[in-house]
Amino acid sequence: MRIDVVTLFPKIFREPLNAGLLGKACESKLLDIHIWNLRDFTDDPHRTVDDAPFGGGAGMIMKCEPIFSAVESLKGQNSLKRIILMSPRGRLLKQYMLKDLAQESDCVIICGRYGGVDERVAQGLCTDEISIGDYVLSGGELPALVFIEALSRMIPGVVGKWESVESDSFYNGILGPPQYTRPAEFRGMCVPQVLREGNHAAIAKWRNEEALRVTRERRPDLLDALSVKQNGGK
Ligand code: SAH
Repeated sequence: MRIDVVTLFPKIFREPLNAGLLGKACESKLLDIHIWNLRDFTDDPHRTVDDAPFGGGAGMIMKCEPIFSAVESLKGQNSLKRIILMSPRGRLLKQYMLKDLAQESDCVIICGRYGGVDERVAQGLCTDEISIGDYVLSGGELPALVFIEALSRMIPGVVGKWESVESDSFYNGILGPPQYTRPAEFRGMCVPQVLREGNHAAIAKWRNEEALRVTRERRPDLLDALSVKQNGGK
């Protein structure tokens, strides 16, 4: 999958895109990520990307012209079917949205800064506005990295075993079960007997029950959402 990122801080992406599973995915070209410096798409000597807000108020607003130019310059390299603005005012990012997006061959991500982005970028350029949570960061770069890493896990081959992706929290709409490794006993805390006995059917049943128990305790909203889905949205 090709991902084009438009940002004022290209350097922020360097390390995270080179480490761990993301690094491997980029190396093997399962992910083909291009980082574009928004200032390269300005046409004045000061390379201006922001201006004061109409109506007054604190903070500067990112101008639309350089962002439109940056995205339009990608014509022919990127299908421009999904142009995503990272924004606290966007749709809250959920696993099912990532499953859906991973079917695309490419996407563009726009990172905001300062007081945010001129509304006409969302209105006339972007297909999606995505938020990573109900809090405000100083820029869209970390949200973009969160989005890219979560999306990469939905691309077959990025995580070695697909089975482990399927058993992760949220993949099937609920939290994952507790997990253990050696030693079997640590400071009086024991690994549940069923996990130590090698009965695969019993282990699968235990994991399923535990996943439901933990979800019921911590995130009952997830179970409500699942039952709505199973009843056809009624
Ligand atoms: N004034 C804006 C916030 C601007 S924060 C508002 O009230 O909505 C500057 C930039 O950081 C945003 O344009 C966006 O790209 C990014 N950002 C901040 N919080 C974010 C979040 N929760 N999810 C995604 N992007 C976020």
